[in-house]
Amino acid sequence: MTINVINPATKAVYKSIPETTEAELNSIVETAKEAFEIWRSKSDEERTQAMLNIADEIEACAAELAQIVVSEQGKPLAIAQIEVGGAAGWTRYNASLSLETEVIEDSAERYVEIQRLPVGVVASITPWNWPLMIAVWHIMPALKAGCSVVVKPASTTPINTIKLAEIINKHTIPNLVQVVVGGGRAIGEPLVQHPDVKKLVFTGSTPVGKHLAKIAAGDLKKVTLELGGNDAGIVLQNADIKKIAEKIYMTSFINMGQTCACLKRLYVHRSKYDELAKALADIAAAQVVGNGMDAGVTFGPVQNEKQFNSVKAMIDEAKASGAEVIEPTLPEGLNGYFIAPTLVKNPQHQISVVCEEQFGPVLPIIPFDDVKEVMSHAIHKEFALGGSVWGEPCEELDWVVSQLDSGTVWVNNHAEVLPHIPFGGNKDSGLGVEFGQEGLLEYTVRKVVNRAK
Ligand code: NAP
Repeated sequence: MTINVINPATKAVYKSIPETTEAELNSIVETAKEAFEIWRSKSDEERTQAMLNIADEIEACAAELAQIVVSEQGKPLAIAQIEVGGAAGWTRYNASLSLETEVIEDSAERYVEIQRLPVGVVASITPWNWPLMIAVWHIMPALKAGCSVVVKPASTTPINTIKLAEIINKHTIPNLVQVVVGGGRAIGEPLVQHPDVKKLVFTGSTPVGKHLAKIAAGDLKKVTLELGGNDAGIVLQNADIKKIAEKIYMTSFINMGQTCACLKRLYVHRSKYDELAKALADIAAAQVVGNGMDAGVTFGPVQNEKQFNSVKAMIDEAKASGAEVIEPTLPEGLNGYFIAPTLVKNPQHQISVVCEEQFGPVLPIIPFDDVKEVMSHAIHKEFALGGSVWGEPCEELDWVVSQLDSGTVWVNNHAEVLPHIPFGGNKDSGLGVEFGQEGLLEYTVRKVVNRAK
């Protein structure tokens, strides 16, 4: 069986690749186990150098990687180039980390230290929104810790990950990172179930994440889950709209809104509502929508048909509910999954575009009069990935920061993720953490050595 990878800007087949069978999966995990035994015995310096070489080669292949990302994911070339740059940057950052032994007691009675050991073969399951970057987020801390990885990319965006694995194995050892191709149920679940896989790192939807966590619990595999979000941004009465409008647009619509930590619900004090809505509408109208490979294009298609239909349905529901929908006209002749950056003004709180994650190019803008009252809407019942407050320094701003319950709270910014800053969701938005030293520790098991004196 083969998988047809579709270019979302044209709906044409970009590449066809064979699916991995379950028999192949077993031999892949077997070789991953062998690779783990070799890789874990390398010194930290050897692992560091290999990862720096990988980062160099990602940069050397930047044009090819960016072109693959545009062809299967759809984003404009400039954003794909940022993704490739981020992949190299995250690789270098992880190369710089190390697993120090921690001495926790050195007394007359005992000497006690905590060692960190690599967890073993890691299963990584990645989504289609930032496919190269998220694969790097999963793989590089695993490699630094001494693990091997079997990665299952989203069925709609596997090609960039296959290229990444080639680069990694060239600079490390054979089979250190292997890719399995196929549907979630067909190959993702058997991978997570495999008894020789010791950890799952998953980025994707909350229902699938919870389902896989239950499977992983069967033999107590370690789990890191980065799941959905419905991040609120709150714009206060004292905000300077000229200063923040562009940033709010960018952090809401980056990657056509298909980013876990995008700003997805915008609550604006009524005194600033019209000014900000107009500024955002002007920026949205100025976007050049089209094929990400075409010069000048700033806004690409939604990545796949399912997501396109889901976002369209939310926009239609918003229109039917009486909300004002500002939808720039698409250029003639486009044949892909295109939706222009769309604003929904004055939506009711309970419609899907507000209370569900859109994961696409549509932003609801909701006016409020009283910041205390708006917090009861802004704090989501299930999701708590990120949140933000926008305004000049004041007590009210600090109060909003103290009330938001998300894994990250930004002030006058949103969606900023950096390799050294831990990132993860609370409530149904995730379990565990990525990035920084804490992210590295997720790929280890603790061993306490307690020597009596
Ligand atoms: P998804 O269905 O959870 O898919 C994510 C990954 O999981 C893909 O590789 C998918 O494979 C795989 N998968 C699906 N079902 C599986 C199963 N039963 N067992 C093992 N693997 C399975 O998410 P999606 O449909 O791509 O995106 C929809 C939602 O996911 C978004 O609306 C958003 O909520 C969330 N999301 C979050 C992030 C984030 O960074 N936090 C990123 C992307 C998406 P296939 O591609 O083969 O189905």
